[in-house]
Amino acid sequence: MKSSKNLLDLIEALTILPGIGKKSAQRMAYKLLRSNKDKTENLAAKLMSSTTEISTCPICGIYLDREDVILQNQTEKHLCIGDNRDISKICVTESPADVYIIENSTDYNGDYFALSGNISPLDGRGPTEIGMNKLQSRLEKGNIKELILATSTTIEGEATAHYVQQLAIKFDIKVSRIAFGIPLNGELDYLDSDTISHAFNERKEL
Ligand SMILES: [Zn+2]
Repeated sequence: MKSSKNLLDLIEALTILPGIGKKSAQRMAYKLLRSNKDKTENLAAKLMSSTTEISTCPICGIYLDREDVILQNQTEKHLCIGDNRDISKICVTESPADVYIIENSTDYNGDYFALSGNISPLDGRGPTEIGMNKLQSRLEKGNIKELILATSTTIEGEATAHYVQQLAIKFDIKVSRIAFGIPLNGELDYLDSDTISHAFNERKEL
């Protein structure tokens, strides 16, 4: 039976989405083809603009619109957090997504720094690849009194936390690690907000 090459390509492209295998990608593709054309085109436009219009904050690493990054560079103000936050504290996470999880689950009032993943030499990710040099230059500017490590309890997360701890020691900064009420290999996005809030408040000084 002759089938559409474009449809097969669409299915293949959809499998890059997390948790989407071939079968789910097929269902999504069929649904998209049956959907209102305007909605599908809107989705396509949003995907296109996500690569050009969404950037990361050069200070903390969370997602920001490109125009806000430009504005921030001009004003030299950190736009991601409100004015009455305690900027002497930085919570270090392994992704921008984890910043939002902590922000929504706890009453933490400090600043953030999102790394791009964890240190994993086998996957070619060393300290520089995940943004440690940016964290270091932020610490070099001074005025930071506490670092709170919120990386996962996986081996890579622990290696990353250890590296940040060494940096903190070098700059004579107090460092704590959030407690996890869960088994080893825990990642934040699998936890409910009560567990995260508890883990955050019960953080241990290292
Ligand atoms: Zn920021």
